[in-house]
Order: sequence, then structure tokens, then C-alpha cells
Amino acid sequence: MNVGIMTWFQYHNYGTALQVVALSRKINDFGHNACVVNYTTNASPIIKNNESLANRVVRKSFQRLKNHLNYEYHENRRELRFDQFYDYYLEFTDKCETLGDFELLNGSLDAFVCGSDQIWSPPNFNPRYFLDFVYDENRMIAYAPSVGILDVENENIRSRISENISRFKYISTREKAGSDLLSKLTGQTIETVLDPTLLLTQNEWHAYESDYDTGNKPYLLAYMLGKREEYWKIIKEIADNLELELYIIPFREKDIKRKGCIKNPIGPGDFLKLLCNADYICTDSFHGTVFSINYNKPFTVFERFKRNDNLNQNSRIYNILGMLELEEHLYQNRKDNYRITIDYSEANNKLESARSHSLSFLGKSLASVQNYSEQAHLPRNLFFNNKLCCGCGACKVSCPTGAIQIALDADGFYVASVDHEKCISCGKCSMVCPYLNIGDIPKIEEGNLFSYKDREDAVLMRSSSGGAAFKMATTLLDKGYSVVGCAYNKNEHFAEHIIVTPDTKDKLKLLQGSKYMQSKFYDCMKLIGNSNEPIVVFGTPCQIAGVKNIIGKRNDVFLVDLVCHGVPTYGSYKKYLQYLSISKGLEIGNDFETIFRFKPSGWRRRYIYNGNSEKYIIQHQSKDPYFLMFEHGFCYSKGCYECPWRNKSASDIRLGDYWGDKFAYDITGVSMVCAFTEKGRHFISQIEGMVVENIRDYTMCQQMSNFPRPVFWEELVYELNSGFRDIEDILKEYVIPYEKRRKLGKMYSNVVKMLHRK
Ligand SMILES: Cc1cc2nc3c(=O)[nH]c(=O)nc-3n(C[C@H](O)[C@H](O)[C@H](O)COP(=O)(O)OP(=O)(O)OC[C@H]3O[C@@H](n4cnc5c(N)ncnc54)[C@H](O)[C@@H]3O)c2cc1C
Ligand code: SF4
Ligand code: SF4
Ligand code: SF4
Repeated sequence: MNVGIMTWFQYHNYGTALQVVALSRKINDFGHNACVVNYTTNASPIIKNNESLANRVVRKSFQRLKNHLNYEYHENRRELRFDQFYDYYLEFTDKCETLGDFELLNGSLDAFVCGSDQIWSPPNFNPRYFLDFVYDENRMIAYAPSVGILDVENENIRSRISENISRFKYISTREKAGSDLLSKLTGQTIETVLDPTLLLTQNEWHAYESDYDTGNKPYLLAYMLGKREEYWKIIKEIADNLELELYIIPFREKDIKRKGCIKNPIGPGDFLKLLCNADYICTDSFHGTVFSINYNKPFTVFERFKRNDNLNQNSRIYNILGMLELEEHLYQNRKDNYRITIDYSEANNKLESARSHSLSFLGKSLASVQNYSEQAHLPRNLFFNNKLCCGCGACKVSCPTGAIQIALDADGFYVASVDHEKCISCGKCSMVCPYLNIGDIPKIEEGNLFSYKDREDAVLMRSSSGGAAFKMATTLLDKGYSVVGCAYNKNEHFAEHIIVTPDTKDKLKLLQGSKYMQSKFYDCMKLIGNSNEPIVVFGTPCQIAGVKNIIGKRNDVFLVDLVCHGVPTYGSYKKYLQYLSISKGLEIGNDFETIFRFKPSGWRRRYIYNGNSEKYIIQHQSKDPYFLMFEHGFCYSKGCYECPWRNKSASDIRLGDYWGDKFAYDITGVSMVCAFTEKGRHFISQIEGMVVENIRDYTMCQQMSNFPRPVFWEELVYELNSGFRDIEDILKEYVIPYEKRRKLGKMYSNVVKMLHRK
């Protein structure tokens, strides 16, 4: 079986590196083929935060100062040694960034194991480490992920963790405290198993040691990760009392200056060698403790965190020492413990029995998945497992049995659903879905950049930026093309794609201007799929990628996508209309319209217009509830947090606003135009007024990577789509605390800019 391991490996930290190598080794020993999912991220979860601004400023400044005094040691040569170690001992999947990349693994891997390390630590909550991308729950195993702390304070994180772990059929954690906590949350029984590094015996680890020369003198090895300066004096005293040389593996920049610090770059194999040859070990690291025990070394372990620290992670050390009855070797339990000789025979027996229990859990879970896979013969890449959907309709157009419907769901997004009675499992839908078929499309850096500003004020006033879309559409209409683009439906108050032909040219102005909401697209997808006429399609990158999968290569079709921040739930727009009606007295009738970028009032300073010719209001973005909701991006479609098109495009041409310093003083708007194909480049170069620019402007001023989906997304989207609270009230709870911080951050960076100019 091909088994994917989902864990941390990106930190150049010995314990992290050795736990993944150990788990991979044991999975291979069971006769499978282990492969580490190639995923690295530094994103922190977005949680509701009602901390006062003053508190936050003080806390952050204090934290920064502390980090500055204690920053971690990084050295390229050392990091290279880690990479070499991984290259030698591990196999990796292709790089995974978005959920779509992960979902493809459902087709190539048979089982998925998440663990170990603190991948389930609530402050780092990330659903990917709970295997949220795996379609089939019967293939999921949790081997020794660690929760790290004793309670989950944040209620949203608590709910997300419960939902995610209730999917696991085979579940274990690394610490008893973690198992108890998760059992309490879910009512499930959860096994406690050993950290993978303890699954290998001392002899097995020898094979991974390098030939690092540790010298001839007996030595005490210190491996300390914490910031507690007082321990260094004690370590020095222990070394002196035992008449040992002091060797220090540096973890913080400060360590480099300490006497005894090893300045050569130490890789994981060298780390093992240094531990194996040490005469005494002092550590505050969990893995430092684990290897001291596994190598049967005399050692002292220090508490890294103060006991009154709410987020203290000491429990994993208490756990392993308690299990093997080695508590005396915790400095806090016995200060002179370096004088005790350890008789390891009892601890080794206990370790051996825990090892066979843990291996049995892992082996049995893998065997069950294998049995299941052999019997189930499930087609793995079926569309209805897909978690991301932009409602483009490509699947609906391809389905031979009419099994697919697209409609607004309870979260307020257009998404596809399948009638399983009608589905014949042909898989055609999954072959055209843009999230599952990204293909080899150009990266932004490969595009050619232009700026464009229309000469006519009337065009500029109706367009979001410089009117490039309108110019391109009129040029092509004149050549006999039809134009597909997004209009605001004044009767029912939503955005939809419509078609404008050379005969209905006057409708083109309906397409001008961005409608910052998800457009109903799928009716046009059918038209586009069936048409043999020349056509230009404007849409968000996901919609355009879906169109491309339907039409393939056609010279008489132009695809134009937009730089896209994301689309919010329709619930937010519905609540906004209620607010406009109740608080602002506007009538939401058949002639009512929202203009999301009201240009007569400004371009960079954005204004939103609502109303009709008789009564309307124009609000600045900072006062407008819908814009605040849109801009912060907390209630976007799930696909927007996994968007594969921020740094690439399936289109011929992409349009956006020309932000950045270049047009800082422009007040009517400039379009950013980026051509990716020969056809696109040729067309753009024929348009009068297009000015060649450097592609760096795009990467400097547009959002190039995804932001994480907030942990409170479910709650926020539910509130926006249910009848109870109004939009202002919801904003106060979820968005305003961030808005205040953002403003403060902006003021701060403006001051810094001004000081730089002086
Ligand atoms: C949801 C959304 C988010 C965006 N986020 C950013 C951003 O973060 N940064 C940035 O630089 N630009 C963003 N844009 C693009 C930007 O607002 C302008 O569309 C772009 O600058 C082109 O302006 P223009 O003056 O050339 O054309 P415009 O006349 O403003 O319109 C361009 C085209 O957009 C299409 N369109 C309008 N609304 C939608 C919609 N809801 N769905 C699909 N197509 C639509 C229309 O069919 C029209 O043809 C976003 C657009 C949308 C719709
Ligand atoms: S698998 Fe085939 S029949 Fe089933 S929904 Fe997809 S396209 Fe339709
Ligand atoms: S993104 Fe498009 S093709 Fe994929 S499931 Fe949704 S509607 Fe179907
Ligand atoms: S952010 Fe990405 S997924 Fe979301 S609407 Fe835009 S292109 Fe589609």
C-alpha cells in the first residue's frame, strides 16, 4: 500500500526530523511504501479576538522584545544537512499547497497517517493535519499526534477539533493527557501510543548516526530549547562535578557565545551520534529526553515552561518520565539527580512493552485499511467527494445523466450537488472540475504586464479601474464576437453572467464595474459549451478555469479573468439589503442597484452607492458594512482560501486594479492588464493606449497567496445566513476588532514611510 504521512518536517529541529524518519521506517517495515506529504506552512489560525487594542499593543511589543533577545539560531549549512538527511531517508509527494493539490492524493495514496509532533496543538490548529482532504474516512489513521496542552479554551477551535477527529476510525495520540482531552470532547476512546522515535530500538537508531567525530574526551551534551537562562549555570555545575567537557548544540543565537558550543553545522545524523557518545545529557527538549532514555544515558531534564504558563507544554515530558518511572530525573523533582546511577532494566522492559503495543496499533490499523481497500474497490477520484466548488457548471455540462444540480446552498454559495440515484460513476465531472484539473498553466511571472486607462471619462466612471474590460469587449464585439460577463440583476438582487451579442451591444454597459459577490455562472457555461461562435468570456479565475476545461483550445475564444480577492456568502449581501432598508430607509425595489465602486466619489478611496435615481446613499468603504465584510475576507467561499489561481492563470488575459505607488495620485483608475498566451499578447499589443510595464508590479501589489480560513468561519457564515442578528451586530463581533488593528497598523507603516523619506 502507498501510505501518506502528514506531519511537520519543515522546522529544522532534530526531534521533528527524526520522528518523521522513524514513522516512515516503521510503515515501510510493515511492507508498505511510506511517502511524506510535501506541505509546509507558517500560517496561524485566524480566531475571534476581542482583546483590547492597548492590551494587544503591550503584549505584542513585549513578545517582540523577548523574541529579539532570544531569537532562534539559523544557519544555512545546518539546514542543508537536514535536507540531505531527508533526501536520503524519505520519499515525498509532489508539493501540496491548496486543497485541490491534496485532494489529488486520494487517487495516488491508499492510506493516510497523520502524526506525530504537535500537529494537533490547538494554537496551531490547521484542519489539513486532521486529514480534512481525505475523502474516505476508512483510510485515515492518527498515529501519535500531540495536542501539547491540557485544555482548548477557544470554543471555535474546540468545535473544529471535535468535528475533525470524529472522522477518524483509527485514532491515537502521543500523551495520555491528550487522549483524555480528546475523549472528553468526542466521547470516543482514544489510544495513547509512543512517539515514533521510540518505535525504533537503540540498535535501529545506530544505522542513522553519521560518522561525526565527537573527540576522545568524555563530555556532557546540552540540548536546550527554552529561554530559561538560570539552567545554564546548573548545567555548568553538573559538568564540573562530573568532570566532563561541556558540548552545547545551539538552538538560540545566544548559545553560539556560550563556552562549549559546537559551531559545526549539526544535521540529524550528527545529533544522534553526539547523543549516542555522550557521557551525560542535559536537556529541556522532549526528544532530547526520549533519546537519552532510548540510548540508556544518564540525564537531567529541565522543565522548559513555567508551570503557571497556560500554554505550557511540559505534560509530554511528565508523561514519558512517569510511564517509565524516571521522574527523579526531572530537575524540578530532584536537584542532585546527576548523582544517581540509572538502572535501565525496568525502564527498558516497560519501554519494550509500550513499543509492542504501539507497533501493534499501527500495524493493525494499516492492515485494516489494506483489507478495506482490497474489498471496497472504490473509485477514488469521484466528483462528489470534492470539497471545493465555485458553481461554475463545468461538471453539470459534462454529466451524461443530468445528475448534477447547481444552487445556492445553506452557506450562501452556488455549489454543485449530485443526485446519487442518477449518477453512473463515469467520472466525467471530475475530469472538468477546475479545482481537480489545474493543469500546467502559466505563473504570473511568465505574463507580460501593461497598464491601461481609457480616454473617455464616461467609460472610466462606470468601470472599476481603467476600463480595460470595456475596451477589450467593444473591440471584440466590433469583430463579431459575443461577450459573456457579469451583470447585476436588479429584480432579484444578485450577480449573474449574461451574454451580449453584436446585436445587443447596448447591454455591454451592464457588465461594467465589479460586483463583489459570487456570480451565477452555470447557465452561461452551457451556452459557451454549445456555441461555435467567436466569444470572449470575463469571469473570476475559477470560472474561467472551468470554461477552459470545457472548451479546450479554441482560437476564436478569448478567456479573461480578474485578479480576485474572493467572494463572500450571499448571506452577507442579504443582511446588507436589510440594513439598507431598515437603517437607511432605502426601498429595495426593481430599480434598486448597488454599485460597488462608485467612481465619481473616488478610486483608491472606495465608495459604495446604493439606491435608485430618487433616493440613494453613498458610503465610504470604512463605514459600509458590506465592504468591511468583503474586504476582511472572513466569510468567503471555502474555495477562496484554497484558491490555486492567485499566482497563476488559465486565461489569455487577466485584469485588475493597478495598485502600488506608480499611480498613487491617480483618482479615476488604472487597469492592470496581464497577458499569458500568444493570442492574449497579440490582442493586447493592438489596443491603443496599452503601456508596457514590469511584471514585478503585479507581484508587489497583488495578494499572491491564500489567507487561512478563519476558525470561526462556520459560525460567522451561519449567522450571516440565519435570521437572528443584523449585519452591524455580526460585524462588531467578528470584524471590527480586526479593523481597528488594521487601521493602527496602517498608521504605523505610514509613520515609518514618512520617517524613511526624511
Ligand atoms: C469578486 C472580485 C474580487 C476582485 N478582487 C480584486 C483584487 O483583490 N485586486 C484587484 O486588483 N482587482 C480585483 N478585482 C478586479 C477589479 O475589481 C476590476 O474588475 C478590474 O480591475 C478590471 O477593471 P476594469 O475597469 O478593466 O473593468 P470593469 O468594467 O470593472 O469589469 C471587468 C469585468 O469584470 C466582470 N465581473 C464583474 N463582477 C464580476 C463577478 N462578480 N464575477 C465575475 N466577473 C465579474 C465583468 O463581467 C466585467 O467584464 C476583483 C473583481 C471581482 C469581481
Ligand atoms: S460521475 Fe458521471 S454520472 Fe455521476 S455525476 Fe459525474 S458526470 Fe454525472
Ligand atoms: S467547481 Fe464547477 S465543475 Fe467543480 S464541482 Fe463546482 S460546479 Fe462542478
Ligand atoms: S478567490 Fe479564487 S476561488 Fe475565490 S472566487 Fe476568486 S478565483 Fe474563485
